[in-house]
Amino acid sequence: RPRVVSGVQPSADSLHLGNYVGAVRNWVRMQDENECVFFVADLHAVTVEQDPATLARRTRVTAAQYIAAGIDPERSTLLVQSHVPEHAQLAWALNCITGFGEASRMTQFKDKSAKQGADNATVGLFAYPVLMAADILVYQAHAVPVGEDQRQHLELTRNLAQRFNTRFGDTFVVPEPKILAETAKVYDLQQPTAKMSKSAASENGLIRLLDPAKKNAKKIKAAVTDDGTEIRFDREAKPGVSNLLTIYSALTGRPVDEIVAEYEGRMYGHLKVGLAEVVTEVLTPIQQRAQELLDDPAELDRILARGAEKGREVTAATLSTVYERMGFLPRL
Ligand code: ATP
Ligand code: MG
Repeated sequence: RPRVVSGVQPSADSLHLGNYVGAVRNWVRMQDENECVFFVADLHAVTVEQDPATLARRTRVTAAQYIAAGIDPERSTLLVQSHVPEHAQLAWALNCITGFGEASRMTQFKDKSAKQGADNATVGLFAYPVLMAADILVYQAHAVPVGEDQRQHLELTRNLAQRFNTRFGDTFVVPEPKILAETAKVYDLQQPTAKMSKSAASENGLIRLLDPAKKNAKKIKAAVTDDGTEIRFDREAKPGVSNLLTIYSALTGRPVDEIVAEYEGRMYGHLKVGLAEVVTEVLTPIQQRAQELLDDPAELDRILARGAEKGREVTAATLSTVYERMGFLPRL
């Protein structure tokens, strides 16, 4: 079975709808036909300023949300990135075959460092896409299900895999991106041309998986819509309404056209009420299951320990090949 790898940063307590629709929900479906590794990307979360106690809490909460959303730790490998040291070890090796200019072209770094002020951005943030490449290549993954926002990083991953293979001999599987273009990207409700993001500026633009239904409904009702009154999908002219339709479609599995037809002649407010109901219906069971898991942190930690053990069976083998090919003297 093809191997699939993906992860989300524990950069907030709750995941948001973009993470769910663009990532976690697709993972759940992939478990049947693939050998999956899903990790909580805590090494990535320290590329920006962070608080240690908060990071530990968020790592558990994020893992709980994976399971609550349908990741089965028996069928898939569920682990915390820092529990598998080969992620960081391979990242160093890949750093040394990545061009400085190549890394400088990554748009996420430009966005995130601009937000922080160039002087506050760390080398870790700059090297983030290389660590991401290591996350994928260390498992010899065939496919990487990520949102549209990660397309450029995946391209870098493929380039690094090919470069290493050419220079040192065939070592890595060159992974394919699995991006669902239509429903992949969820935008900020207040700024519908910017992606919904855990570290987003506008609190009201974000729908969190773990927030109470009322709070989420309120944000949906306050979502920025567009001039005119017509409900139709038009990313250019109507980014706000289009975003609501995208979310609606993604969560119900119904095509956008069908939803547009249903709301024909009705007002934006009707669409928002309908969407709030859909969101509540999807999130309520996830919230309940997540709470159960968080009520027993020791059991959750055991699940994660088993995941790390399973993961290392693959990563240790990859790393020893990489080290040998690069010419590191084997330790007796
Ligand atoms: P941060 O702001 O800390 O970078 P994030 O919200 O961008 O957080 P990540 O942890 O970077 O989330 O990404 C996790 C996964 O969620 C990735 O696969 C990414 O493609 C997907 N994702 C993130 N934001 C969105 C979005 N707005 N729409 C669709 N998918 C998204
Ligand atoms: Mg991100």
